[in-house]
Amino acid sequence: MQDCHHSSRKASADPASVVEECIHHIRGLGMRRTRTLECVLSELAKENMPLTIGELAQRPSLRDQCDPTTIYRLVERLHQAGILRKLGLHERAMFYEIIHKDSHRDYLICNQCGNITDINEACPVETLEKALKEKTGYRNIQHDLVFYGECPRCAEA
Ligand SMILES: [Zn+2]
Ligand SMILES: [Zn+2]
Repeated sequence: MQDCHHSSRKASADPASVVEECIHHIRGLGMRRTRTLECVLSELAKENMPLTIGELAQRPSLRDQCDPTTIYRLVERLHQAGILRKLGLHERAMFYEIIHKDSHRDYLICNQCGNITDINEACPVETLEKALKEKTGYRNIQHDLVFYGECPRCAEA
């Protein structure tokens, strides 16, 4: 029952401990603990919603100490290391979020303006996931589910 309950994440996600857990994992992979790394993880953990490189680069903790290219390289490495999930259709407007082992969220993204919305309900594919588990014998199944469309504001314009 815990695998797909979206609200469980908010209750358990203390940003500081999320950051420490990520850094612990990263150091195991031989990546250095830098101030930029700490700030990027901490902004993502605090925000609790996926952020773009542009948004990260605007945060006061990052604005003065590094440029978007540095942030881009870092988040791409974190994505490759399995720390961050990358969402979106266009390379220029990718969102990044910290991957949590025991909870996840599914999103809706506007094709036009890139606005992102947390679906914020019970996971829509939970039943399918359970059925797959039974049918295939797979364990620890995860999914990466993003819906795309036109948000009300863009549809009106
Ligand atoms: Zn839109
Ligand atoms: Zn889901």
